[in-house]
Amino acid sequence: MKWKGNRWIAAVLACGMLLAGCGSPQSVEDPAEQTPSGSAATAEEPVSREIFAMDTYMTVTAYGEQAQEAVDTAVSEIERLDALLSIGEADSEISVLNASGTAQLSADTGVLIDRALELYQDTDGAFDLTILPLMEAWGFTDEAYRVPSEEERKTVLQYIGADQLTWDAESRTITLGEGQKIDLGGIAKGYTSSRIMDIFEQYDVTSGMVSLGGNVHLLGGKPDGTAWRVGIQDPENTTGILGVLETGDCAVITSGGYERYFEQDGKTYHHIIDPATGKPSDSGISSVTIVSDDGTLADGLSTALFVMGVEKASDYWRQHADTFDAVMVSEDGTVYATEGIADSFSCEQDVTVIEKDR
Ligand code: AMP
Ligand code: MG
Repeated sequence: MKWKGNRWIAAVLACGMLLAGCGSPQSVEDPAEQTPSGSAATAEEPVSREIFAMDTYMTVTAYGEQAQEAVDTAVSEIERLDALLSIGEADSEISVLNASGTAQLSADTGVLIDRALELYQDTDGAFDLTILPLMEAWGFTDEAYRVPSEEERKTVLQYIGADQLTWDAESRTITLGEGQKIDLGGIAKGYTSSRIMDIFEQYDVTSGMVSLGGNVHLLGGKPDGTAWRVGIQDPENTTGILGVLETGDCAVITSGGYERYFEQDGKTYHHIIDPATGKPSDSGISSVTIVSDDGTLADGLSTALFVMGVEKASDYWRQHADTFDAVMVSEDGTVYATEGIADSFSCEQDVTVIEKDR
C-alpha cells in the first residue's frame, strides 16, 4: 500500500502530544481547531472542550442542536469516572478497594470488572487487572522508576493473577487475594469513550469525536458525510504519524511502549507489563492500534495484543475478527494491518496484510 500525497494533514491526529500542543503539524480538519471552546452550537458548527483527566489531555467535540449540553455532560462524566477509577487518588473506589481488600462496587466499576475478567480469560491472562503490584515495583505509579531485583519480582509475581480474586457479579462484591491490588488503567479510557458515545446519542449528536491521549472514539462520519481520518502515531518517531485510517462510528485505540517508559543502564523499560514474567513485555511489538465499535474492548485488546506479540495477536484476531481490527508495528519497523481495515488504512510504508485464512 502506498502513501497518497499529503492527505495526512487532513487527519484527526490521534496523538496525545499533538493535543498538548507541542508544535507538531496539526490537523486542518480537527474541529477543535476551528471553533472556540464553548461557542453556541449549530448543526454545522461544532462545540468543543478540552480537559486534562486520567493523566492525559482530552478533547470532546460534538455537532448538533444540543451539542453544548452533550459536551458539558461528557466532560462531567469523564471527571466522575476519573474520580472513581484513579489509582492516584486515595479516596477513589479502586484505591479504597486496594487498601481494604474487599468492597461492594458501584455499577460502573462493576461493569469494568466484568469486562476486565472477560479479557483476562479470553487473552489467556495477557490482560490482567491485578497488575498493580508490578506497576508499583517498577515505579510506574509514583514515577520513582527502578528495576526490581529478581527476588522482589518473583515475590510480587505471586500476587498477580485475576484467578486469585473472587467476584460476585450479582452483589458486585469483590475480594482480592493476598497482596493483590487492581488497576483498570488498561481499559478505563476506552470505557470512558464508549460512555461519551452513549451521551452523544442521548443528545442527538449527529457527528462527534472524543480524543483521549492517543485514542479517539468517533460517532457517525464528519458533518459533510465523509469518513473521519484518524492519524496513527509512528512509534519510531512519535512526533509524526505512521498512516491514516478512514473510518467512523468506532474507537481507534493505541498502546505503545513510547507512551510511558524510563531508561536505566542503556535499556528502556515501558509501562505495559507481561503478567507471565513480571517485566515490561518484550514481544517485539512497538505499537498496537485496535479499531472496534466497543471502546472498552479496543482499549483492553490494545494492551493485551501488545503483550502477545504479532504472531499470537494475529491468531487472536483470526478467532475474533467480527469484533475488531488492528494495525500493529513491530520493532523491526514492519507494519501490519488486519484484512478488515487494510483498504481504509493509508501508509507511506508497505503494509503486510494479516489475512483470515492463512
Ligand atoms: P494502555 O496504554 O491502554 O496499554 O494501558 C497501559 C496501562 O495498563 C498501564 O499504565 C497499566 O496501568 C495497565 N497495564 C499494564 N500492563 C497491563 C497488563 N498486562 N494487563 C492489564 N493492564 C496492564
Ligand atoms: Mg489499553
